[in-house]
Amino acid sequence: MSFVINSGNYIDYIERVAEKISKSGSYISSLDAATGDGDHWVNINLGFEHLVAAGPRMRQLSIYDVFRQIGVIMMSKVGGSSGILYGGAYLAAGKSVEGKNEINDEDLCLAMEAMVNDMMTRGNAKPGYKTMIDSLYPAVVTFKKAIAAGTENRVTMEAVKRAAVKGAEATRTMEAVKGRASYRTDKGVGFLDPGAVTMSYQIECLCDYICDVLL
Ligand code: ADP
Ligand code: MG
Repeated sequence: MSFVINSGNYIDYIERVAEKISKSGSYISSLDAATGDGDHWVNINLGFEHLVAAGPRMRQLSIYDVFRQIGVIMMSKVGGSSGILYGGAYLAAGKSVEGKNEINDEDLCLAMEAMVNDMMTRGNAKPGYKTMIDSLYPAVVTFKKAIAAGTENRVTMEAVKRAAVKGAEATRTMEAVKGRASYRTDKGVGFLDPGAVTMSYQIECLCDYICDVLL
């Protein structure tokens, strides 16, 4: 059995993420202060504040337009690498569901795949480079495999969530190839990548939302 995500559902999920991110300021800022310039939480939190503010308007749109609007907001309002990467990723997600009013599990998986592909192209990065991709990529791989195998949705969502969290945790031992941590002599080894952690928060919220509300 598939599930269906409409624009209202997606905005509800965005609100959950905004709450989770708003509460994690000191932790995420300390991660980016250790290996970057300390602004990752400010950037991503500001982005989600803008998304929540645009929520009532976006609820009236198709999911295709919601993804595109999120892309435009992230691109125009958020600084740093995060703004460009999330902005581009959401525009790509929009393109992958072009014209759709709502999406099912397979569409969601394709949208997430489009996001990670856009991030890799735009950031000239791959899995293993100690970035946000290291959480999203394994989540997408797990999601695709589960759909191909016809796995039950609740089991799938738990597996996708675990893959995202495990992927973020794996950045601790990685040497940074991209991002500010790559400028350091230690390449950030021993530290988590902040962008991977905030990505895992979003995927956790998404999987929990689907299990709590849509299944
Ligand atoms: P900035 O690095 O410009 O200060 P942020 O602090 O908002 O931007 O975001 C930092 C995060 O962006 C990193 O933790 C990493 O996950 C991600 N990142 C940085 N550069 C890249 C890249 N080239 N490709 C993918 N992700 C990247
Ligand atoms: Mg930064």
